[in-house]
Amino acid sequence: MREFPDMLPLWGNPCPLRVLPAEKNQVIFDGEQINVFMIPPMNQYRFVNLIAEWYREVCREAAADMVRAWCDIMGVSLTQWKITRAGRSWGSANTALKRINLNLWLAQYPKECLEMVIVHELTHFYESRHTERFYAILTRYCPNWHQVYEKLRDKPMNRR
Ligand SMILES: [Zn+2]
Repeated sequence: MREFPDMLPLWGNPCPLRVLPAEKNQVIFDGEQINVFMIPPMNQYRFVNLIAEWYREVCREAAADMVRAWCDIMGVSLTQWKITRAGRSWGSANTALKRINLNLWLAQYPKECLEMVIVHELTHFYESRHTERFYAILTRYCPNWHQVYEKLRDKPMNRR
């Protein structure tokens, strides 16, 4: 099964990966190893889909408390937040509808990256564009945002 990677990152840590044929699609992280159970045929396309859905769940769990806490701190109220499989953006905000979206692949990076993207999107509720004022507000809540952004430049895994 050379078409699958040996390792996958979870919150910035490389985890050994095992891909096994099964009767039910399922991803189980046992604390050390990521076990992917897949109904054959086992190919790269279906593997990426499975792992993406797993990252979505992992991301949703981690983001729930962070979104709640940062909405409180920054005085923003949302009607909805979602974990999406966006192509290029790490997050997006719709201030008219009071929604934010967060990219599921953030689960591959250190948790502070997810947190910084949440703060970034909530900052848009004060300033819609990336102006000086925007970055002044972001810096107030997340002083090291620049270093955190640097970590998001690495591409640990090909994705679609
Ligand atoms: Zn932005």
